[in-house]
Amino acid sequence: MHELAITEGVVDAVTKRLPGARITCVRLEIGALSGVVADSLRFCFDLVTEGTNLEGAALEISQLPGKCHCRVCGQDFEPASPIALCSCGSAEVTVLTGQDLKITSVQVA
Ligand SMILES: [Zn+2]
Repeated sequence: MHELAITEGVVDAVTKRLPGARITCVRLEIGALSGVVADSLRFCFDLVTEGTNLEGAALEISQLPGKCHCRVCGQDFEPASPIALCSCGSAEVTVLTGQDLKITSVQVA
């Protein structure tokens, strides 16, 4: 599962930066085009944090809209789904933003 590897990466990053600290909340930003499903991430988070200093921490996820540029008609648009398709019918698009996942902040008890 894609989300499991991502969650492990997030938890690893936090435990390496803050070893021994008790974490109560992790905030993430997920781009709409990252292909990451927030609900799956939440599910994996509970599993992965078990037995770590993040156990029981809340996971807050904000989703950022994606932005694409159509190489056919030249317009910039916000795709409604992870599959970027321009309103002109073209799939020849360059993704400008929305593919990232990042930790925005971590709350320490
Ligand atoms: Zn277009």
